[in-house]
Amino acid sequence: MKVLELILSGGYYFSIAAIGFIILFFIVTGVNGDVRSRTRKMMNHTALIALFGCLAEMASTIANNIDEIPVPVKTILFSANMSLMFLCSMYFVRYTYAFILKDQDTSERGRKYTYISGMIVVAFHMILIGNFFYPIIFFYDGPDVCLGPLYILMGYLAPAFYLLIGVVGIFTQQKKLSRREFHALLSIHLIVLLGAFLQAILDDEVLLVSYSIAMGLYIVNSFLESKDYLRLVETNIMLEDAEQRANAANRSKSAFLSTMSHEIRTPMNAVLGLNEMTRMTLTDDTLPEPERIEKSLEYSESIKGAGETLLYVINDILDISKIESGKLDVVTAPYHMKTLLEELNSVFSYQAEAKGLMYICHIDGDLPGYVEGDKLRVRQIITNLINNAIKYTKSGTVSLDVSGVVKGEEVRYDISVTDTGIGIKPESLPHLFDVFSRVDDSETHYIEGTGLGLAIVKNLLGLMGGDVEVESTYGKGSTFIIHLPQKILSGEKISEYSKAQDKAQEKAVEFSAAGFLILIVDDNAMNRAVAKNFLEKMHADVETATSGPEALEMIRGKKYDVVLLDHMMPDMGGDEVLHIIREHPDEFVANSDTPIIALTANAQTGLREKYINEYGFTDYMAKPFRYQDMVALLRAYLK
Ligand code: ADP
Repeated sequence: MKVLELILSGGYYFSIAAIGFIILFFIVTGVNGDVRSRTRKMMNHTALIALFGCLAEMASTIANNIDEIPVPVKTILFSANMSLMFLCSMYFVRYTYAFILKDQDTSERGRKYTYISGMIVVAFHMILIGNFFYPIIFFYDGPDVCLGPLYILMGYLAPAFYLLIGVVGIFTQQKKLSRREFHALLSIHLIVLLGAFLQAILDDEVLLVSYSIAMGLYIVNSFLESKDYLRLVETNIMLEDAEQRANAANRSKSAFLSTMSHEIRTPMNAVLGLNEMTRMTLTDDTLPEPERIEKSLEYSESIKGAGETLLYVINDILDISKIESGKLDVVTAPYHMKTLLEELNSVFSYQAEAKGLMYICHIDGDLPGYVEGDKLRVRQIITNLINNAIKYTKSGTVSLDVSGVVKGEEVRYDISVTDTGIGIKPESLPHLFDVFSRVDDSETHYIEGTGLGLAIVKNLLGLMGGDVEVESTYGKGSTFIIHLPQKILSGEKISEYSKAQDKAQEKAVEFSAAGFLILIVDDNAMNRAVAKNFLEKMHADVETATSGPEALEMIRGKKYDVVLLDHMMPDMGGDEVLHIIREHPDEFVANSDTPIIALTANAQTGLREKYINEYGFTDYMAKPFRYQDMVALLRAYLK
């Protein structure tokens, strides 16, 4: 009863209001419970401490007025009140910084501040405990509390110190805050400071600190942690993120265009320049005939090299676009690992030697050799790695090591490519396999490249169920290791491989199309010449047409065994030609069952289905094609 009387007669109205507000605060945050953020959790902790602070404040002031309560209990209550108010101000600042830094400060700096804060809290409480034995903050003289020399310092200045740090933070980090956040955070600190100041000058007659803390919490809750505001912030972050990604995509598009234009122009330049040289040589009457031929052949060889480089770049771009759209398929067929390695060795031992490097290959001959997999793609993977090893090594050795383990019906080849080249800095390693990522430093700046090779390696291996690792020491060299699972087809070891199989494969490329009449339709003279040469090598009879209308005329009059029809032609496209043939079966009756095969430079995946199912072509062949491609195609249709 006495307590109730005391409450009603004393200046506790503000404390009671504060408790009410804080309870209300918990009810409101409970309603908003589906929104979770780190700062919100901190705010709840602050509110909980504030609630206990208010209760301790009231309890200690009431206890002060009840004579029967022993002095040590009063001291404990008063100390608890001081401790909680101090912690409350510290939590306010903690909240403020977490809010300003938006969860970004998990760094060393953040840990340092937590450490310093912890030390201050321990020191504060040591002094508070010390006060029991040697009252420097406050003591009870008779029934009344008397203030010690450190009372103002510990009771007001210590919490105010934290609040001032908060204010400093708000002003110095103003740029990171919206207007609303700045004003809300600043008002909380000022209100709590004002509460403490007023309570101090009113000589603790009216308990304003806890009330001002409750007000501060209310402001935070309604302005910074409300459901709708958090959603708004979240949406803004998403928008900013989207903008950043759009900008990054834009930048990488520009980087892509400039790299590509460089990578394409360089070999193109060589092709045009060497072609010019060939022409000049051929028309140079001062040179004797054999020298003219020899020089021209030399140039032609270089043109071939530049053309192949160009094709690599274009194929890489196509591959990466197929990989990115998830359209690249791995086509498995039987092959022998030994043949693949021998092909690679013959190319790269020559390339390495040309650069003055030593090329070493070590193969574990006990591994199974005859396996099922996508030989072309496996070759592409190893080629990319050895190409890089040679490209990024000025002197020393490039070595290819093949080891592995057999697991049931599968062999996992562990193929490593080691070089003594420039190496890669540890910080560049995480991005090495990203598309278009090139390590740009003084060492690599002058070396040409698209930044696609390793991305292709990683993605292809992913499609084959394998993976790639890299170990590198900057300045010393690198090792790329691939793990490639392949299905074992026979118990034959790599070392047991016989050349007879090779012969069988070579035979497969021999094909005769003698007695068959083939029509090539292409507006480009060069393309017609290439196709014609290939077909004549197979002893086929060949006719050519340079446009759609001309082709229609020929097809109308004569039976062909196969028509190779270019898709993109100026007057009438291949699809249109085909359409006319299919629409007028009576007119083209002679060729009603002739396979009409699209030739196109359009080589994106998915187009094959389009050409066959949508346009109605019998088959499809992408340009540029090799002799073997042409053989494989015709073998299917000329029977
Ligand atoms: P590119 O070689 O066309 O630039 P890649 O994707 O093949 O593209 O390689 C990406 C980057 O990785 C290269 O730019 C190069 O900086 C680095 N790199 C690749 N292989 C090696 C290597 N063997 N030694 C040193 N750096 C390498």
